[in-house]
Amino acid sequence: MLPQEIIRAKRDGKTLSREQIAFFVKGITDNTVTDSQIAAFAMSVYFNGMAMPERVALTEEMMNSGNVVSWEGMDLGGPIVDKHSTGGVSDSVSLMLGPMVAACGGYVPMIAGRGLGHTGGTLDKFESIPGYNIQPDLQDFQRIVKDIGVAIIGQTADLAPADKRFYSIRDITATVDSIPLITASILSKKLSAGLESLAMDVKTGNGAFMTSLEDSRGLASSIVAVANDAGVRTSATITDMNEALGDTAGNATEMREAVEYLTGVRRNPRLHEVTMALAKQMLQLSGIANTAEEAEAKLNEALNSGRAAEIFGKMVHALGGPADFVENWQHYLPKAPVVMPVYADMPGYIAQVATRELGLVVVTLGGGRRNSADTINHAVGITDIQPIGTYIDSDRPLAFVHAQDEISAAAAAVELKASIGLSETLPQLNPVVYETLTANDV
Ligand code: URA
Repeated sequence: MLPQEIIRAKRDGKTLSREQIAFFVKGITDNTVTDSQIAAFAMSVYFNGMAMPERVALTEEMMNSGNVVSWEGMDLGGPIVDKHSTGGVSDSVSLMLGPMVAACGGYVPMIAGRGLGHTGGTLDKFESIPGYNIQPDLQDFQRIVKDIGVAIIGQTADLAPADKRFYSIRDITATVDSIPLITASILSKKLSAGLESLAMDVKTGNGAFMTSLEDSRGLASSIVAVANDAGVRTSATITDMNEALGDTAGNATEMREAVEYLTGVRRNPRLHEVTMALAKQMLQLSGIANTAEEAEAKLNEALNSGRAAEIFGKMVHALGGPADFVENWQHYLPKAPVVMPVYADMPGYIAQVATRELGLVVVTLGGGRRNSADTINHAVGITDIQPIGTYIDSDRPLAFVHAQDEISAAAAAVELKASIGLSETLPQLNPVVYETLTANDV
């Protein structure tokens, strides 16, 4: 078999066989296929798409290009279940949901990513905790999941290595936004954690990867079909990203929001709605709950009893963080030297948010990356972000920026103001959760 013949077949709109896809993915992994051939292949898929069996084959072959975590013989005593989001601004859902589901009896081996561009990354948020090790060895990872019920860590080099190389070439050849390629890329990494079920959060709106509801539905149904075909019970919930999800953005700032959520100090209603919707899916898909009502009752109990907060604290400690982090987070999380309120130039209702630009304010402050090699400042960020529909005047700021110095605070304030549009009348609010697609819908 020759790589160029496989590219030619896809270029001409043909359906590739499992053998052809396996051959090409092996070539990506062992470097017998060149960068230019990978780029040509990606562009052919971009224009001609892939049938469902091709997407399943690409996902499985990329997943099997490295190690797949095996839980066999570990006697977990409960289902292995995870959640993944396509990425957004102020999306700290994973931080709370992992411990909440573990408190209900699930086992959550969460392999999370870093932020890139305007989106935040779960790993960066955890690295704002002193000592937290995002790269334990596999044995420690599995032991922590077994003992505590959840471990949130980073991708290791031996999980889905084909995707790593493939993605880095897609990133520089304008071929990221292809539904079959995104499906295989996300699922090959996620499924290499050995999951039995998965709740996907597919964001939609101006801060999401897929800005239109139609494209988000296309991605959601592709992911649900492929993952279920690959043997993992999966649903996809489409949620709003036309504004920040919670009321903080950044790393230590979002970590604080998560701890306050778990300990019941305050729960932003939009963040709570999405967290509960996805956690309920996880409990139902994994058979821990039979109905949405039963799932909700279990999750409320996990929160109200303090069990979810306790599990979060145990996970942080098991991964090298302080034993009393939940109680004394103020002492441990880094603080930015300058905290500045940002006021609108005139009063009015917040009517639109340019969410991508709002996320980029965190990058301006130094809390996000422009490319994957950048280092970040974990202390900086935004807090008290007001939702669409809030009346803003000279007493009520749009948000507070947390900056390293006055100059970056002033630059961030200009960008933040520009990302928010006001109106004289109360605007219509977007739904927070649009719909959930299950295996029966695709
Ligand atoms: N995230 C991924 O991991 N892969 C993609 O292709 C897009 C988003």
